[in-house]
Amino acid sequence: MERIYLDHAATTTVLPEVIETMMNTCKQVSGNPSSIHREGVLARTIIEESRKYLSETLKTSTSQIFFTSGATESNNLVIQSAASSGEFKQIITSPIEHPSIHNSIQYYCSKQNVQVHYLNPNKNGVIDLNELEDMLKSCGKETMVSLLHSHNELGTILPLKECANLCARYGAKLHADTVQSIGLFDIDVTIDGLHSIAGSAHKFNGPKGIGFLYLKDPTHANPILHGGSQERNMRGGTENIMGISGMIKALELSQADRQKRLDKLFFLHNKLRSGIMSLDIPHEFNTPKENFLPKILNVYFEERKNIEWLILNLDIEGIAVSGGSACSSGSEKPSRINEYIRPNSKGKSIRFSFSHLNTEEEIDRTLMVLSKILKD
Ligand code: PMP
Repeated sequence: MERIYLDHAATTTVLPEVIETMMNTCKQVSGNPSSIHREGVLARTIIEESRKYLSETLKTSTSQIFFTSGATESNNLVIQSAASSGEFKQIITSPIEHPSIHNSIQYYCSKQNVQVHYLNPNKNGVIDLNELEDMLKSCGKETMVSLLHSHNELGTILPLKECANLCARYGAKLHADTVQSIGLFDIDVTIDGLHSIAGSAHKFNGPKGIGFLYLKDPTHANPILHGGSQERNMRGGTENIMGISGMIKALELSQADRQKRLDKLFFLHNKLRSGIMSLDIPHEFNTPKENFLPKILNVYFEERKNIEWLILNLDIEGIAVSGGSACSSGSEKPSRINEYIRPNSKGKSIRFSFSHLNTEEEIDRTLMVLSKILKD
């Protein structure tokens, strides 16, 4: 039986062209990018050309781009800097952020006496901009706002420009976790109020363990990793050249193919959504009807026979899905997000997440299997 992988919000498959680029880098580059000999200069050139491509894609300057081990590190760097620089006295966030934001806010802010304020998103993960405005008004200028752009479990999209502009109006700065958006949407980092964004290659068909951070004003940031002067003193340690070259190849491919990928994702998303609606299985969609990332469809199935083991049964039938970012397929631990949107519910929320490489037939089979497992 061919496996059907519908967990692309957790991670994506690395494209063959990306693997080839990484292998070439590995074979051709023997030097340390910090060395001044020819081998070192070749390694440095690959890193700086990659930085240039990324900065041009984001329409910013190379001095504002930092390569990291992934978005967990990028998010930690931003929150750690915000809490320790003395620049911010308050952080506004939501209770449904990714753990790399949620847990680093709890850790760094309690150490530095920075006050944390939580918005109350609705059960589709939508932030109320009036509530944000009220909080910004009462918090004052020394405030950072940290919110997900595309929600990794629910697929909800934050109106980035409105939100950033609102922050700017009250003198606050926005950090946006854009991990699930990079490669599918253009992110305009020049908008007023947007201070930083984080990205991770393995969410857009690149390798795991490499990502980036954009900082509008790097002078206020502090490193987490102290060591050599790599990444302009922001991150000690010899650079992951193979990962960087793979990430940039993956980004180039996604830029070239973006509209086709988006069309395919909308098609798969809508097919599964309407297919579930016609199955006669009690359900509700956690992903909103508007302003959603087509890559994700999060569905709540009401309590019924076999619901307890739904993810496991799908896995046995060859279909990999997830109950949220804290669980992997086959695991039944409820996620913090599911607990927030549906406290004490007895049913199950399942995140289906697609890639442009999934097929219509895979969605048909998924619907057939869902019907087999959940119909009484
Ligand atoms: N933010 C979001 C929204 C994510 O989906 C993820 C990955 N699950 C991360 C941050 C962390 O990224 P990484 O795996 O590169 O540390």
